[in-house]
Amino acid sequence: MTGVVQGVGFRPFVHRLATAAGLSGFVGNDGDGVFAELEGDPVAVDAVVARIVASPPPLAHIDAVTAHAVEPTGSAGFEIVASRASSGAATFVSPDLDVCEDCRRELFDPADRRFRYPFINCTNCGPRFTITLATPYDRPATTMARFTMCQRCQAEYDDPTDRRFHAQPNACPECGPRVWIESDGDQVGDRIADPVAAARALVAGGGIVAVKGVGGFHLACNARNDEAVSELRARKNRIEKPFAVMVADLATARSIVLLSDAESEVLASRRRPIVLAEARTDVSADIGLSPAVAPGMKRLGVMLPSSPLHHLLVEPGEVWVMTSGNISAEPIVKDNDEARRVLTHLADALLLHDRDIHVPCDDSVVRLLGAEELPVRRSRGYAPLPVRLGFDTPPTLAVGGELKATFCLAAGRDAFMSQHIGDMENLETLAAFTAAVDHMQTLFRIHPEVLVADLHPRYLSASWAERAADGRPVVRVQHHHAHIASVLAEHRHAGPVIGFSFDGTGYGTDGTIWGGEVLVGDLTGFERVGHLAAAALPGGDASVRRPYRMALSHLYRAGLPWSDAIPAVAATPAVERAALRHQLETGLNSVDTSSMGRLFDAVASLAGVRQVVSYEGQAAMELEAIVAPDEDGAYAFGIADGAVADGAAMTGSVIDPTPALRGVLADLAAGVGPGVIAARFHHGLARTVAELARRIRRETGLGTVVLSGGVFQNAILTEEVTGRLAADGMTVLRHRIVPPNDGGLALGQLALARHRTK
Ligand SMILES: [Zn+2]
Ligand SMILES: [Zn+2]
Repeated sequence: MTGVVQGVGFRPFVHRLATAAGLSGFVGNDGDGVFAELEGDPVAVDAVVARIVASPPPLAHIDAVTAHAVEPTGSAGFEIVASRASSGAATFVSPDLDVCEDCRRELFDPADRRFRYPFINCTNCGPRFTITLATPYDRPATTMARFTMCQRCQAEYDDPTDRRFHAQPNACPECGPRVWIESDGDQVGDRIADPVAAARALVAGGGIVAVKGVGGFHLACNARNDEAVSELRARKNRIEKPFAVMVADLATARSIVLLSDAESEVLASRRRPIVLAEARTDVSADIGLSPAVAPGMKRLGVMLPSSPLHHLLVEPGEVWVMTSGNISAEPIVKDNDEARRVLTHLADALLLHDRDIHVPCDDSVVRLLGAEELPVRRSRGYAPLPVRLGFDTPPTLAVGGELKATFCLAAGRDAFMSQHIGDMENLETLAAFTAAVDHMQTLFRIHPEVLVADLHPRYLSASWAERAADGRPVVRVQHHHAHIASVLAEHRHAGPVIGFSFDGTGYGTDGTIWGGEVLVGDLTGFERVGHLAAAALPGGDASVRRPYRMALSHLYRAGLPWSDAIPAVAATPAVERAALRHQLETGLNSVDTSSMGRLFDAVASLAGVRQVVSYEGQAAMELEAIVAPDEDGAYAFGIADGAVADGAAMTGSVIDPTPALRGVLADLAAGVGPGVIAARFHHGLARTVAELARRIRRETGLGTVVLSGGVFQNAILTEEVTGRLAADGMTVLRHRIVPPNDGGLALGQLALARHRTK
């Protein structure tokens, strides 16, 4: 058996099955996986193999089972044999998972010796990836090494019939890690018998507590207390970006959000991601949450407790804000000393423990499209499960993009996507990136022969790759091609396909900023067969932060007047308006962009939804949030062929938003509300995508369409495009394993490099 089969109770599981079936033989571990020899009645042997495949231990993740017949040896009894030395092949490490049912029962059982012990775990649950320093996964190679097991824990650890047989983080109150609370550097925990109760009291009283979790610190407060939530925003300098909340159980979750069966299932899965679910009403209203939790959002990020400590902290009926403990844009804090330095002025107290986190790992975020998971951030609970490739790759490291950075380390058929690292904009994130790369290389013993980076000349990840290469080749690949390739890699599809790659920004092969791209291609190359009409991005980042500038730029490009009655124009200070016009006329300090994300910004601004953003994607998310559900009108878009701009021939179709912008202005003048405008924009764009796909199918014969890029996190757009294309008999491939945003880019980079260097 290969896959995640070590450190997950696989050998005792096989032992139990074989013994129960009266078989003899043995089971063991080596660097390639788990091996077993079963001897006895052939029917019973087949039944045991079938059981192994059909219902493996909860944490196991079987990639492959190979079986062949061997001569009977006449052995008696069944044993677990000592581990064989590793052959050096990649071994898998399980993600960190929440407590299992058995451990949870013990956690709340007053008669159990681990009653209310925050570090209870067993072979079927608990921390893995974040505490593992190296492989093979064994206690000395984890941050549990410094805790010596007491006699009772050791006895469990040594007993093949025990649930804690070889559970490396096994611990109890007598021998394991402990929790304490600190305030102003004073370890008051030593004087407080129950630090969890002390933290609860602080939160109940409106305080903010930094809680050390599985993959790093959270800042926690009562989500029903408006003063506390606002205070947290002020201290964190996080103006509007939504906070996630933690609740104890599904019943409490259902009191604040509407949950489909699929959403409930994912929420309650032991991966414990944040699920973006629809708030029961406007977040501020009846459900009693502070309006500062998720301003402007229709969806709320909800999660259930992800460690025993969280189970003890958050009680049924309560709603806690749980946001990453970090300074804006820096990586999540994971060490006690770092927390004392960085989080002391953000929190009233620190709830610390002495089980070290070796690598930080943020919470994962998902939303559901029907029954399908759409990853928004793939991190704790998911990383480092490999993506199984449809091709063999030499040892390769793909370093991803700039925002929402992740990397991909791969060899053979396994692509290990890293946890979420953060935005590669500062030295702290760069250091975290380097540490995470080192860690994964150690764990999986992959020594990259090739590096892959984005084409962008100023991405920190790309310059990191060039520096780290040390003579090894660095393959540079185009951003939007990599997005499409990422979906292809997930689906083990070779292409060619029709690809829609819509996002905020990516460096084009012509030196302009792309982001509304229609590509036809496969893993070996692509042709840009269409794109959104390019508009100026005057002042670069200034136009990203202030969507009204993008609105005026799009009006200018379309030849539409800047009338004072338009919210975007009214929001532009007179001085800035004049400067902007000058910039647009002269092209001064301005680049062209075909970004679809910026078009969403422009429309959000025109409709009066959002003029200035405080986090990436805010305007587009708010535009999606207000879409009027019953409106099915749609704005028209032009599709022009073979346009020529600035002397540079542009191949293929240009998506011209001018008719749509005219429609927005006419609706504004007629007093149509922003919800209807938002709806008509979404429906119009979806129909345009479908129409383009039909045209390209006619020309190329291709019937498979790939959707990728951050814009396809938009569920309304993605579901409508998918529905229309499916109705036309086309196959739609979209992300299920890695995010459509730049958090999934590295997987596509890897796939492209493999096919470039063949
Ligand atoms: Zn357990
Ligand atoms: Zn113990």
